[in-house]
Amino acid sequence: MRIGVLALQGAFIEHEKKILECGAEAFEIRQRRDIEKSFDGIILPGGESTVMGKLLNELDLMNPVREFIKGGMPVMGTCAGLILLAEHISGDETVHIGTMGITAKRNAYGRQLGSFHAKALFEGIGEIPMTFIRAPYIESSERAEILASVEGKAVAAKEGKQLALAFHPELEDTPFMHEYFLNKIV
Ligand code: GLN
Repeated sequence: MRIGVLALQGAFIEHEKKILECGAEAFEIRQRRDIEKSFDGIILPGGESTVMGKLLNELDLMNPVREFIKGGMPVMGTCAGLILLAEHISGDETVHIGTMGITAKRNAYGRQLGSFHAKALFEGIGEIPMTFIRAPYIESSERAEILASVEGKAVAAKEGKQLALAFHPELEDTPFMHEYFLNKIV
């Protein structure tokens, strides 16, 4: 299995390590020609969604990535990656990839504005640790199934082969969420 990790900005190296720990192959998507060979899934990492969105457009990656996902390419978006996937961003006209039927609320989650940890039930896995860093949450879901909530806010959703997480599973000790992505979604 070969997974492309969007490597324009943000926490992409940690995702690559987790994919390797699962025994799959990881490669970095940095420019248009990186997505010309065949692969089985995409990871959109955390970082800054506005910067990543701008770079995706400038590098002529936005349309091809959107078309891959529309065509059924499995994708896991974490934190800023969730915002990239969202069809709507609360209080903002911006749409980036926009393939997932959710409304994301940016920089609005948690007691602290910075980062915090939580443990919560994740549908199909059980209780898992979650690390939130200036995280979004899912304000509403138009089509996606909600897989986890923390403090009454939805923090994980799935729609077909698209998985969106408000937290950072690449920062945990074990690759449980990457295993879930590879086994259940890809
Ligand atoms: N606050 C960031 C954004 O709006 C997301 C934070 C993250 O990815 N850790 O894009």
